Amino acid sequence: MRITNLNPGTAIGASSWFVEIDSQRLLMDAGMHPKMEGRQALPLYGLVQDQEIDAIAISHCHHDHVGSLPVAVRHFPGAHVLMSELSYFLVERVLHNSVNVMTRQREEMGIREYPLYSHAEVDEIAPLFQGFKYNREIDWASFRKTRSGFLSPTLEFYDAGHALGSAGLMVRGRKESLFFTGDVCFHDQTILRAARFEDVRADVLIVETTRGNRTLPAGSTRSLEIQRLAESIRRGLAHKGSVLIPSFALGRTQEILALLALMMAEGQLKPQPVYIGGLGRVFSEIYDLESHRTHRQYPNLQLHEALNLIVLDQGQVEKMSLSGRLFVVTAGMMTEKTAAHALAARMIGDERQSIFFVGYADPDTPGGRLKAAKPGETFTFSPSSGELTRRCTVEDFDLTAHADREEILAFIGQAEPRVVLLTHGDPDAREWFKARIAERFPRITILQPGPGESFEV
Ligand SMILES: [Zn+2]
Ligand SMILES: [Zn+2]
Repeated sequence: MRITNLNPGTAIGASSWFVEIDSQRLLMDAGMHPKMEGRQALPLYGLVQDQEIDAIAISHCHHDHVGSLPVAVRHFPGAHVLMSELSYFLVERVLHNSVNVMTRQREEMGIREYPLYSHAEVDEIAPLFQGFKYNREIDWASFRKTRSGFLSPTLEFYDAGHALGSAGLMVRGRKESLFFTGDVCFHDQTILRAARFEDVRADVLIVETTRGNRTLPAGSTRSLEIQRLAESIRRGLAHKGSVLIPSFALGRTQEILALLALMMAEGQLKPQPVYIGGLGRVFSEIYDLESHRTHRQYPNLQLHEALNLIVLDQGQVEKMSLSGRLFVVTAGMMTEKTAAHALAARMIGDERQSIFFVGYADPDTPGGRLKAAKPGETFTFSPSSGELTRRCTVEDFDLTAHADREEILAFIGQAEPRVVLLTHGDPDAREWFKARIAERFPRITILQPGPGESFEV
């Protein structure tokens, strides 16, 4: 088989893989680079433009994996778009939201080529989308008339435990198989249960390496982190200040809301309203609606019943009082023009306020800069906010939705691949994996394909 990395970036970037196997062609993921702007953020579709493909398979509905799907469909008009059933319920909302974000950025940041696709285009391609249950083998190549005589390769979605609908993709050809982890979580989160990759074996493995550069402090566990978060929230609210937990709308927000609901039910937190964003509300409703079809904990926990959720109106965060309120709003990295950014800009200089991070924030984002600022330090939060002096409480909690590096390493041992391709991680994260794999599994060939690079494996 031949595998081409279409990610324009070298770190997490825009996930997209072009795969040729048994004379059939498949695109895995159609992401958008979270930090690049305009067309620069797209996968390198131009490299494979003149090739017809049979199908586009999506691992999950985060922007870095699905954000350029309408552009991919434009490049490959005959392709069917395949995803897990749960992703199917989310994907249109995600794409319409990205049209809104791009439209706003066009106006506010003057990015002329935005939006890269329109609401009408999303509606137009939606009939191509097909959702499949986990662990069903699909004959994807036969969607298009098969070239005679070939037994076509198949596709199977494996529950990846990372966010609702997330999947690892198994492509089985006549002789060889390929497995792509997507983003994966090997431990139970509060709502979602761990990935179910137990019977995965593959000749070629594409693995995410997000946490390859992350050492766990000795003795830290998820339940201790949750305990610490509950105490910090109590302390923050007792100061008559507000608590802001910046969170991505899909996945992170629902996990945090579930934690808050449990803390309130157990008496660890006094019941009180939780302010969320509009998109967070939409995805929370889908989590509730699909609760019995999801491999999860607390299937009877309905976020909308358990919590008093209040959706913030446009412009409200600039004016509302900041005493004793609890916010779980986007964006996780506090990018400009989001509720989290606007709230943080008001809270940073006030010692009664608390901001708690529960996920990764790139050092080069407002969230990353705030994490790095010391108490009393004056720093540039963002171009629009200018310089601020950090007087609020800032804490960081490790409640990741990504597998720890040792777990990924164990999975590689289980899958027994001939070749491993390292992806979705900073250079030092990939280097950690390279060294460990070479040491523990010396027979495995390790590849780190750069942007646009192709390998015959
Ligand atoms: Zn993800
Ligand atoms: Zn990702």
